[in-house]
Amino acid sequence: MLTNVEPLRKILELERKKGYLDSAVIGGLDRFLRRWAGQTIESITNPQLLNRFHKLHLLNPVYASWTKQQREQWIDSVLDFLAEAERRGTEKGKTKLSAVASRPSSKVRGQTTVVSKSIDSPITVVRGISSSLATKFNRLGVKTVRDLLYFFPRRHLDYSQVKSISQLSEGEEQTIIANVWQAQVTMLGGRRSTEAIVGDETGNVRAVWFNNPYLAKQLATNKQVVLSGRVSLFKERHVFESPEWELLEATELIHTGRLVPLYPLTQGLRPRQVRKLMKEVIDQWTWQIEDFLPPELKERCNLLELPQAITQSHYPEDEAVKDRARVRLAFDELLLLQLGVLNKKRDWQESQPGNSFGTETAVLDTFLKSLPFELTAAQQRVLRELLADLQQSRPMSRLLQGEVGSGKTVVATAALLTAAANGYQGAFMAPTEILAEQHFSTVCGLLSRVSPQEDRDYLRSYPGLLPRPLNVALLIGDINQARKQELHRCISDGGVDIVIGTHALIQKGVEFHRLGLVVIDEQHRFGVVQRSALRQKGFNPHVLVMTATPIPRTLALTLYGDLDLSVIDQLPPGRQVIRTKWLKPAQRESAYSFIRRQVADSRQAFIICPLIEESEVIEAKAAVAEYEHLSREVFPDMHLGLLHGRMSAVEKNEVMHRFRSGELDILVSTPVVEVGIDVPNATVMLVESADRFGLSQLHQFRGRVGRGQEQSYCMLLAEHPSEVGRERLDIIEKIQDGFELAEEDLKLRGPGEFFGTRQSGLPDLRMAKLSDVGLLELARSEAIRLFEIDPGLEKPEHRLLAKELVRVWPEAGEWS
Ligand code: ADP
Ligand code: MG
Repeated sequence: MLTNVEPLRKILELERKKGYLDSAVIGGLDRFLRRWAGQTIESITNPQLLNRFHKLHLLNPVYASWTKQQREQWIDSVLDFLAEAERRGTEKGKTKLSAVASRPSSKVRGQTTVVSKSIDSPITVVRGISSSLATKFNRLGVKTVRDLLYFFPRRHLDYSQVKSISQLSEGEEQTIIANVWQAQVTMLGGRRSTEAIVGDETGNVRAVWFNNPYLAKQLATNKQVVLSGRVSLFKERHVFESPEWELLEATELIHTGRLVPLYPLTQGLRPRQVRKLMKEVIDQWTWQIEDFLPPELKERCNLLELPQAITQSHYPEDEAVKDRARVRLAFDELLLLQLGVLNKKRDWQESQPGNSFGTETAVLDTFLKSLPFELTAAQQRVLRELLADLQQSRPMSRLLQGEVGSGKTVVATAALLTAAANGYQGAFMAPTEILAEQHFSTVCGLLSRVSPQEDRDYLRSYPGLLPRPLNVALLIGDINQARKQELHRCISDGGVDIVIGTHALIQKGVEFHRLGLVVIDEQHRFGVVQRSALRQKGFNPHVLVMTATPIPRTLALTLYGDLDLSVIDQLPPGRQVIRTKWLKPAQRESAYSFIRRQVADSRQAFIICPLIEESEVIEAKAAVAEYEHLSREVFPDMHLGLLHGRMSAVEKNEVMHRFRSGELDILVSTPVVEVGIDVPNATVMLVESADRFGLSQLHQFRGRVGRGQEQSYCMLLAEHPSEVGRERLDIIEKIQDGFELAEEDLKLRGPGEFFGTRQSGLPDLRMAKLSDVGLLELARSEAIRLFEIDPGLEKPEHRLLAKELVRVWPEAGEWS
């Protein structure tokens, strides 16, 4: 008797008896089958048996997804197969299948292979992978057998449309199964090539392979061959041009007649070779993959088993299963990402206690009552969220999103004031010095309504709010050394309550006396790494990150899942729609005369120069040239200013100041103007080469106007927009809402570019698309659930998941 056959037969018989309900084994038949097949396949050497074995799909079973009738038929054929295997075994006593029986036990064999050849072994343990082949795979980032299993095809060719020769039609990808009548080497286009005539019961067709004479020999007369590819018409007859081919005798089709994988290649790797190898690796190793998701979760989320998902991602049975396989693998990525991020958040929140602030209602009321406007409902809600966080001794870690002009700065100022009222210092950081200065003047402007300020340039003092005067400082690189030292001293002895500056504030050895709250503006330039640096400054301050880049909520939670999220989703009353128009090159003149008319009406305009990626120097030069051209030829009678990244902060500041005060009519600028600049009298934004900017960036530019009461306009010029460029321009013309735009941007740009996961230090997403909002939400809610029931993933059913998490986030412990 064959020990390996018997357990399977028993189980299948039991399954039959129980009415094909997939209830014969715990965990489902598929899992059992895979394991059984994985342990058995190596021992089958008889080609016919092996062929039947493959046709039964024992290695990648989908029993669970079948109807009762399909199950019944399939079990019958497996039982037939087992009987046949056994019969051969006893007859000849020699097939390897029976040899399994003569070993002490298959379990022992299984264990020894696992020890010496685990899926984490280098790929050279795979039969057929030499060290030179391994080097080529290494170049693609594939080092271990596991990497190979996760080395997914870029896409699949759909060769599943099998036709008879008479049904062939021109142009489509199709497959035929035919008999080789004749194959020979011929000269085609001056090169030795192969030409074959093949036929089925409906007719004959010619196939040619250019520049490939070697094939002729393999296509021996009367062999059954499968051809997949496009058919063209030559002298009014159909011909296959360089189709994929394979002989039907192979155990399972891998190049033709199905969804055929196209793998990423590198020099020295050929498509057919990689496909063949991958098929073998999948057949022989996938069963060793441990499915780390708890079964109960898989069931709830209707996910495929992991080994099945891997198999089906490479050699899918059909599009539907392929999709489900991708969903499963994408879910894994998102779940692990979420768990990692949540873990970090907990780590740093629990490692050191933060400082709990009391809500100083009187101080806040005085401040809010002094404002010339009332907070919008959204601002009030967000402020409440912030105050609730600040009361906790667990440090706040919150992302505040709000459209340009939604009034984030006021809310942040209220939070900074709360810190000061509690005797702590606050830092307010901007991405550039211009913006730092602007924040300084905005914050001072807001505070000065309580008490007129005593005007010292970089350090201002406001009595009337706290029992002592409130001191606000601007610290940027551009002030003289003596002043800087004075400021440093005031910061370190606690004389300053609120410090506004660039990121240099936390990076360049500024010593704080009692840093209690950090506000970071424009988060997309301030990544995970900087956030961590901040927390290591010792005080474990509350952190508020602000962004005007609207990130869809789920995406924000996924990539910035270590932050809680607040959204100001409402603009102050009276904001107008900015009329946006994409202009054809011929309309340039009318754009200029429109600007002229606006300026005549005492309005101001921005003109944004093209984005030049090569270097800031070249970009600055181009901007200077454009500025000169516009000043001389186009607007000789107006006052123009220039702003670019190579100017010193003093120069930039001076230009900004002149523009803000109305002395300049038109500001010509490189894209540096993108973020945060607030000049309410500016009503026109003209963007050159607008097709080269992303949607979010265009939206940012547009947000520079429409900040006052006047109707504002955004004009977009593009010389030769690409297809994507056109699409973007179309979208920005139509859509005003930043969140809607962000969704569109995501669709256009895909996950990698939107927020560069690599940049932000998060693990790569290969299968997951950030546009899979439903899946993102599912993964997040499952991660939270897991975290609630078993935060350390210590329960036995979570053991594998914990192991996987450590594999994906090796630095998990030290990340915070
Ligand atoms: P953000 O930083 O979100 O782009 P700001 O905080 O700079 O927006 O606010 C934009 C403008 O709107 C500022 O001039 C500010 O004074 C004003 N503002 C803020 N909140 C309100 C409000 N509730 N009502 C009216 N104007 C407001
Ligand atoms: Mg702002």
